[in-house]
Amino acid sequence: MKTKIVETYLSSVGNGKIEIPTLCPNCGVSNNPQNSSMGTAMYSDSVIIFISHICTSCNVAFQTLQRFNKVNGKTESNATMIAVYPSTSTTSFDKKLENFSPRFVKSYNEAFKAEQEGLFSLAGMGYRAAEEILIKDFTWKIIEDGSEDAYKKIAKMNLNNTIGHYFKDDDIYLVSTDVVRINGNGYAHWDKPEDFDDKKQLEELKSYLNIFISVVTTKLMILNPPVSR
Ligand SMILES: [Zn+2]
Repeated sequence: MKTKIVETYLSSVGNGKIEIPTLCPNCGVSNNPQNSSMGTAMYSDSVIIFISHICTSCNVAFQTLQRFNKVNGKTESNATMIAVYPSTSTTSFDKKLENFSPRFVKSYNEAFKAEQEGLFSLAGMGYRAAEEILIKDFTWKIIEDGSEDAYKKIAKMNLNNTIGHYFKDDDIYLVSTDVVRINGNGYAHWDKPEDFDDKKQLEELKSYLNIFISVVTTKLMILNPPVSR
């Protein structure tokens, strides 16, 4: 898990630097939480503080244990994170994609969490739902003009129609999104075949979803270049 150092005030040690996950463990969006100390344990060589962090993006709390070492009886101001809960890792995406569709990132990471727990059917349905959000954000804001009218039009379309209508002339978009849609539906079907391999199908679905994510990211990079000419 990637971590970063942030400055914060804690009642028991004053101003200090603590280590937190770079991405919120609940929603996967970059993490700039409000920190509050929930409990302190004093030892001869260190101070351990239990901290609750409220993510400003999803408003859900996660917790960490921070250790401040004591040197010659004096508590240092830099802590090390010794535990985090929830501990499942999240997938990080390009900043441009994160800003473009935070709801996609959140849904993707919910599915990712289910996958890490071994809940493959739930993960499959979750990735399909995440894909739908990204496809609709993409068609609304990039292919269409981002207007209220376009929003209403896209909101009425199901995923199959959205793909057929907007991606019919572009193989990369069409194939990558259709594989995810069809595989994702497979998890939800009551009459799914006996030999349906949840785990294998999920690998396939994720590979094609990754293709779609990278073409969307590429498009966002081309629309927002860091240089002008
Ligand atoms: Zn969050």
